[in-house]
Amino acid sequence: MAQPITMSPDGALQVPDEPIIPFIEGDGTGVDIWPAARLVFDAAAAKQGKKIAWKEVLAGEKAFKETGDWLPDKTVEAFREHLIGIKGPLTTPIGGGIRSLNVALRLILDLYVCLRPVRWFTGVPSPVRHPEKVDMVIFRENTEDVYAGLEVQAGTPEADRLSAFLHDELGWEIRPQSGIGIKPISEFGSKRLVRAAIEYALSHERESVTLVHKGNIQKFTEGAFRNWGYDLVRDEFSDVAVGWDDCDGKPGSKLLVKDTIADITLQQVLTRPEDFDVIATTNLNGDYLSDALAAQVGGIGIAPGGNINYVTGHGVFEATHGTAPKYAGQDKVNPGSVILSGVLMFEHLGWGDAAADIVRALEATIADKIVTYDFARLMDGATEVKCSEFAAAIVDRL
Ligand code: NAP
Repeated sequence: MAQPITMSPDGALQVPDEPIIPFIEGDGTGVDIWPAARLVFDAAAAKQGKKIAWKEVLAGEKAFKETGDWLPDKTVEAFREHLIGIKGPLTTPIGGGIRSLNVALRLILDLYVCLRPVRWFTGVPSPVRHPEKVDMVIFRENTEDVYAGLEVQAGTPEADRLSAFLHDELGWEIRPQSGIGIKPISEFGSKRLVRAAIEYALSHERESVTLVHKGNIQKFTEGAFRNWGYDLVRDEFSDVAVGWDDCDGKPGSKLLVKDTIADITLQQVLTRPEDFDVIATTNLNGDYLSDALAAQVGGIGIAPGGNINYVTGHGVFEATHGTAPKYAGQDKVNPGSVILSGVLMFEHLGWGDAAADIVRALEATIADKIVTYDFARLMDGATEVKCSEFAAAIVDRL
């Protein structure tokens, strides 16, 4: 019988054999990739004696057409009540005065971790010589930084007042006609993000956590993120983890926590990817880093993501690419991103066997050179198939 996922008082997810999981189909190519991915999820779950009771909820263009609201309260409530959900890409209306629906969902549900694992799958075309060396898991802070939406537009009364306040109270000179944004980074927000990254690294037997920051320039925000990360290691994890400075880079059997500056990181993830394992970083750095890394292992068509609050149990897993409107309804694009986001969701639910089955079947499909247009144009001798046919080929190999 279909039942909701709940959280026990000790903070563990209670997942029935037939959980109710809300989904947003997504705008644009959502109509193509969602049904394809669902086919794979249902087959993989069935193989393990499980079933998912899917519950459609609306957001984006479909919601606006049917309800006049881009993100109806009912949708947010469904995610709140059922804890775990999954979504396709959503249109962000430009200049319409409404903020990104994705950012809104993350903030409303306080999904403070953006989880972006980046690894290469055998056979996927890549622009680098050794994509197999890339195996990183990015923990991007999801609720603070310049994404907090604290901005005033140049020339408005608000900008003038803020500028006058900063001048009068702090002696700061802001050039006239400047837009001004605020970048809050808190001890609470930094520590809970780094805590999640360390706990993940420990439970997945990873070797290191790298704190990526721009603390050489932004000392009290990015630099503080780094310092709070190291404080956390000393205060909460000293028996199992150690900071670089406290062990001269020799952690013994403990998890090593180190740090690097964001700009050099973007070079080194290319030149020596094997030095990076789990990465914990602030919001904007994480945004750049996750897409740059996704490109190294085959691009946006198959990069998965999850937005998680490990304390409340809420998680929304999502395709990381956009709606690709020019391909909408053509049954053409790669459903890999939303399929692998479902893999992340299954792992999060404790359905590790079903998750591993999907990864194996996806790899076997790509190894057989059965791929969608985006990979086919980069591979020799590939058979180009439709979005739905790619999903069916995965199901055949489950
Ligand atoms: P996009 O939709 O990600 O598309 C950019 C390009 O990425 C596409 O033209 C295509 O490249 C490739 N691509 C995207 N999805 C693919 C897939 N499933 N398989 C293979 N290739 C894929 O980015 P955009 O055009 O900048 O944004 C369109 C809309 O999506 C905007 O409204 C934006 O706000 C929104 N968006 C939503 C999310 C989200 O919901 N998480 C994220 C980003 C953007 P080729 O043309 O080279 O084949």
